[in-house]
Amino acid sequence: MTETKENQNYTFQAEIKQLLHLLSHSLYQNKEIAIRELVSNASDALDKFRHIALTESKYADETPLEIKVEPDKDQKVLTIRDNGIGMTKEELIGNLGTIAHSGSLDYLKNLTGDAKKDVSLIGQFGVGFYSAFMLADRVEVITRSYLEESGWQWESSGTGEFSINPAEVEERGTQIRLYLKEELEEFTNPERLKYILTRYSTFVPHPILLEGEHVNNQQPIWVEPKSQLTDEQYESFYQYLTHRTDEKPLWHLHLSADSPIQFHSILYCSPHNLEKMGFGVMEHGLHLCAKRILVESQCRELLPEYLRFVQGIVDSADLPLNVSRESLQDNTIFRKIKKVLTKKVLDHLQKIAEDSKEEYLKFYNEFGITIREGVNQDFENRNKIAKLLRFRSSDSNGEELTSLDDYLSRAKEDQKQIYYIGGPSLPQIRNNPNLEVFKRKGLEVLYLVDPVDEFALAQLFTYEEKQIVSVDSADIEFPESTKEADGEEETKAEEAAQAPGFEKVVELFKEAIGDQVEDIRASKRLTEGICTLVSTGGISTQLEQALNMSSQQQMPLSKRIMEVNASAPLIKRLADISGNEQHQEFIKDCGRQIYANAMLSAGLLPNVEEMVHRVDDLLLNAAQNRSSIVT
Ligand code: ADP
Ligand code: MG
Repeated sequence: MTETKENQNYTFQAEIKQLLHLLSHSLYQNKEIAIRELVSNASDALDKFRHIALTESKYADETPLEIKVEPDKDQKVLTIRDNGIGMTKEELIGNLGTIAHSGSLDYLKNLTGDAKKDVSLIGQFGVGFYSAFMLADRVEVITRSYLEESGWQWESSGTGEFSINPAEVEERGTQIRLYLKEELEEFTNPERLKYILTRYSTFVPHPILLEGEHVNNQQPIWVEPKSQLTDEQYESFYQYLTHRTDEKPLWHLHLSADSPIQFHSILYCSPHNLEKMGFGVMEHGLHLCAKRILVESQCRELLPEYLRFVQGIVDSADLPLNVSRESLQDNTIFRKIKKVLTKKVLDHLQKIAEDSKEEYLKFYNEFGITIREGVNQDFENRNKIAKLLRFRSSDSNGEELTSLDDYLSRAKEDQKQIYYIGGPSLPQIRNNPNLEVFKRKGLEVLYLVDPVDEFALAQLFTYEEKQIVSVDSADIEFPESTKEADGEEETKAEEAAQAPGFEKVVELFKEAIGDQVEDIRASKRLTEGICTLVSTGGISTQLEQALNMSSQQQMPLSKRIMEVNASAPLIKRLADISGNEQHQEFIKDCGRQIYANAMLSAGLLPNVEEMVHRVDDLLLNAAQNRSSIVT
């Protein structure tokens, strides 16, 4: 920023320049939202002043807090005036020259699709003020802070620069003067303005006066009985709260409680998860009111982190008006409200899930990734959260999502465990040899493509008293009732393991790779595949890898148990020839390669160079043995 004595000119932060460019060049603009943003800023400024007047009585006075919208048809100027806290020179520079949230611009730039909707999101990113330049060639901000005796005049034509100069200002507060663009004279038309103000600003909690008329004299809807409100009213309140024009909430929840604490609340769920769209963790929080007056606009203490997608308002008569942030934090009223709200939201979600699978999946596809964090965060409600989780499963070959309850409704009567498998992709999961035995026995397995799902399940540990286990765990217990289905195959494998050469094969394998695995033993689960890796610790290979990647230090993966299928043709053949010393190096090489293959199946990377050499040798060996057949 550059400043000279005579000419108080400043350049905008580079991001703002880009933003202004973006605003003036995006084709479909809903220009009305600029009015909404400026009125919303005026209302914020009034809220801030009221809070100051309540906590520091020397600033209090009798003048009513109001917003005035003043069109001047002759000059083509529209003024939005408030008697809120105003701004000092430093505040003008900081607030109207920089972007507070660093990711905002990138996000706005990357928005694609419906440009009209995109621009209407502007208010959410802490850049609402700049929408003024959609209406005006030149914007003037005349302001006097409640801390100062005179004021400032800020001015810019929305290109690269702005200026700030001292100004005589009689009253506390801010006027935003919009020198309207040539073709936008309509914004001085009182009828048009009245329409816009009632459309977007009905719920502003301060009087908005247009040519003396109070245009937003509506009761706050959260204190009214549910039965008297229409969907349209809920929708427009949502749009007001979230600055999202044209967007309908996925659902809303209107609550009134009398005990243990008195409060009213309306909670909403947006139809889109902005975090999923790449915005990073959203700022969140509910609007907190005490006796209908806004105390804090992003109160994070009212809902747990994993419900951060819920937006809305909470109004309690049990809170003092002049409460400060600090005192809010360890307030027991708060903890009680939070407890009730959390339970109500979780119950509401459960109800949606029971009423309509389709509606619930719409919600889950957006916010499932957020809600599952709750398993870790909210011990008290763990079971309710677990009920809300959805996973792919073998029941639909991984195509559909299922709940743990649905899984259990299909489980064998004597099944004591819930099985899952993790893997980097559905095809890889479907081809994992560990699934074989589950298929044979008709046991359903949850397919977890995302390690975070697996992490959530590992945290949960049990559900409805059933242990949750990975299919590659050594702890698997198969239900007795599935023995029969599997009987023949199992006996075959057991018999093969008794064959005289098998023990020798295991011994040779141990000599070759014994230092890399925990143990090598005959498998009871494999009938088709040759070999699989089984883990002894509580977590699966996939999760261990994911945790490893996210931690600073690379830990060596814990050793697996290598299970070998004694009835596989290759192993049988190796058993047959294992008595002859000449073949033993070959058998060891086979062991090394079988282990490498099993690692690949589990998504692990064996030593590539060694493997390529070995496979070359094995191929040569096989080719040489063919010479007698061909000629
Ligand atoms: P946001 O309102 O999300 O913070 P804006 O771009 O709308 O983002 O406004 C930026 C900042 O400018 C506000 O946070 C506030 O500090 C200041 N501001 C804007 N309008 C006013 C006003 N009428 N009175 C006092 N401060 C204002
Ligand atoms: Mg704003």
